[in-house]
Amino acid sequence: MTTVAAPISLSSLRPAQGVPESRWTVAAIEALYDLPFMDLLFRAQQVHRQHFNPNEVQLSTLLSIKTGGCAEDCGYCPQSSQFDTGLEASKLLPLDEVLQAASAAKAQGATRFCMGAAWRSPKPRDMPHITAMIDGVRRMGLQTCMTLGMLDDQQARQLKDAGLDYYNHNLDTSPDHYGAVISTRTYQDRLDTLEHVREAGINVCCGGIVGMGETRTQRASLMAQLANLEPYPESVPINNLVPVPGTPLADAEPVDPFEFVRTIAVARITMPTTVVRLSAGREQMDDTLQALCFAAGANSIFYGDRLLTTTNPQVQRDQRLFQRLGLKPQGERSQASSSAASAASAA
Ligand code: SF4
Repeated sequence: MTTVAAPISLSSLRPAQGVPESRWTVAAIEALYDLPFMDLLFRAQQVHRQHFNPNEVQLSTLLSIKTGGCAEDCGYCPQSSQFDTGLEASKLLPLDEVLQAASAAKAQGATRFCMGAAWRSPKPRDMPHITAMIDGVRRMGLQTCMTLGMLDDQQARQLKDAGLDYYNHNLDTSPDHYGAVISTRTYQDRLDTLEHVREAGINVCCGGIVGMGETRTQRASLMAQLANLEPYPESVPINNLVPVPGTPLADAEPVDPFEFVRTIAVARITMPTTVVRLSAGREQMDDTLQALCFAAGANSIFYGDRLLTTTNPQVQRDQRLFQRLGLKPQGERSQASSSAASAASAA
């Protein structure tokens, strides 16, 4: 006789005594991490299918609009001026170059164009250039996203007025591991920026990095921070550290690939309607691992040959992978939705 495991109730994994039902405790998230791998994936797929077409992936393209020379000391980042990584710093790109890149991204199927500048925070003199970029990219019919460092409330409102759809500002890691990675800005600084972005009415893109020497409890703690933001971010990038020679984390121990997949699944379960983006580190993953990440609920990728400073899988490789998995870029009709539509029209 075959024994079938009883379904796992998510509420049983949320021992939130004295904690409001909507909030995740670190212990409850660790309990998710501790599930047998197949059970965790199954739960994540169930949640994913309640909110998304599981065969669609949103494509974003990222452009570095101002590279290197950053005063901050984020231990994973080759753009910090405090580390000798051989990266050449450059000035803010001119508008026409940014618009050309956005147009090429759109032609390749991207629906969102993300622009990143290596700044502690934007200066007043930069704002007119930044708002012109947002306006120009929006007029092409692309969603806009920016990551420019810390923002005050006025800057956030200026970006909103220019039409910015998303602002990316990551929490990076858990509060208690944060000090081992970054010293030039505090966790609270990050939370303050996120609040300014939220209050201005811009969608929040906020995630973290796995593989910076954190423990599983610290990964769970990062997830709790994200899931307990009110509301939780609309977009959650999960990065796998790409160790760059010259940075303090150059020799960080890589995490077990299944632990990375577990992190994606936990993000999907704790933030059911967010878009979970498989971000940095994808080039180092083989196709099988990426497929597992999609099965765990990742439904967005950066598409294009470069991230801010590290390389990304070639567009052709992604297209082949999508074909082999029957995945469609969001915005195109997927096999699942077309068959559902044909079935509906036949009925
Ligand atoms: S992650 Fe951003 S803020 Fe930190 S050093 Fe790199 S560019 Fe600067």
